[in-house]
Amino acid sequence: MSHFEATNRYIRKASEVLDLGQRIERHLIAPDREVSVQVSTTLDNGNVASFRGFRVQHKNVRGPFKGGLRFHPTVDMDEARTLASLMTWKTALVDVPFGGGKGGIDCDPGALSEGERERLTRKFTQNIQEIIGPQTDIPAPDVNTGPQLMAWIMDEYAKFRGFTPAVVTGKPVHLSGSLGRDAATGRGVSIATREYFRRLGEGLAGKRFVVQGFGNVGSHLARLFHEAGGKVVAVSDATGAVRDERGLDIAALLDHRDGSHPLTTFPADEVARDEVLFLPCDVLVPAALGNVITRENVTDIRADLIVEAANAPITPDAHETLESRGVRVLPDILANAGGVTVSYFEWVQNIQQFRWTEEQGNDQLEDTMRRACDKVFAIAAERNVDFRTAAFIVGLGRVAQTMVTRGIQ
Ligand code: GLU
Repeated sequence: MSHFEATNRYIRKASEVLDLGQRIERHLIAPDREVSVQVSTTLDNGNVASFRGFRVQHKNVRGPFKGGLRFHPTVDMDEARTLASLMTWKTALVDVPFGGGKGGIDCDPGALSEGERERLTRKFTQNIQEIIGPQTDIPAPDVNTGPQLMAWIMDEYAKFRGFTPAVVTGKPVHLSGSLGRDAATGRGVSIATREYFRRLGEGLAGKRFVVQGFGNVGSHLARLFHEAGGKVVAVSDATGAVRDERGLDIAALLDHRDGSHPLTTFPADEVARDEVLFLPCDVLVPAALGNVITRENVTDIRADLIVEAANAPITPDAHETLESRGVRVLPDILANAGGVTVSYFEWVQNIQQFRWTEEQGNDQLEDTMRRACDKVFAIAAERNVDFRTAAFIVGLGRVAQTMVTRGIQ
């Protein structure tokens, strides 16, 4: 079964609770547009390399399509379709006026030079410039893409349509970016986790966290958990993992990484990279790629709560098993929605040609995340469903209502 079909199980379940009926459900599931382009570029050695680029525009019922672009060898249409759909429900859940999109290129950016990455990005932008735009579809960073890449997209788009910073979000701060966008996803994850424990009358202080992935999302959230008094007992990245039962010194670990040292040379106990998922802890945070907790390994999980900082890190089968075992899950479309929320703030600032302070952005993010969490926790209690189903109920309900009001032909 494709990842898209598997994920649609969540949609069908929420649709059933909302009693939307087959007709609306079918409209909600199918992506509006799927584009696949060839992206070739001349490598530094003179050879030509060809890749596939994708952009899926899932739904734009509530506003322009919105979502990241990732550079990774596993990128394909099924993945883009699945993640674009998740963006539709995520933007609705945090109530920002966007739809859902996703895309990327099936390349290994680590094997490319900076110049090759730039040429590839510009070529991809040329190929999709007709279907993106500030009122149409607004790409953003995702796995292995960041502010510099967004700057190249903005610059290339300008050659076709003129200076239009609102065509992408996640840009460098000095180039129409928003203060705080870099840390926003991690900050949102920490707010959602804090809200979960607040409901139980507990705080983050003293809780034991395992963070799988130390990229843009994982590194910020590890720092924020640490600052809130939590103990980050293990961290992993693509190269390895480190562990310290007393809690890792995250500031020192960040310095270590910024000095381009591999994680495993940090003075702490070493642990096999893939074993971090199975360490005992209060909160496990997958913050890297999708489908890491599966039917095959789910029974080895020893966390009480899993917070999905990555998109779709748990397969639907594994999710069912976790819930039946009493492991709670804060789903991606809630937990990692801080990124797209601050992307929305960036887009608003670009359109108004105005800049907010970092504090203004963080305050608004705090409000947005808190409202979304309250809503999900309330629906979960009211309907006696897990948090993922509750989050889909809220997202789907909003999109369906807007779609019906606008009129379905
Ligand atoms: N890639 C992020 C996500 O999956 C951010 C998307 C955006 O800012 O548009 O939510």
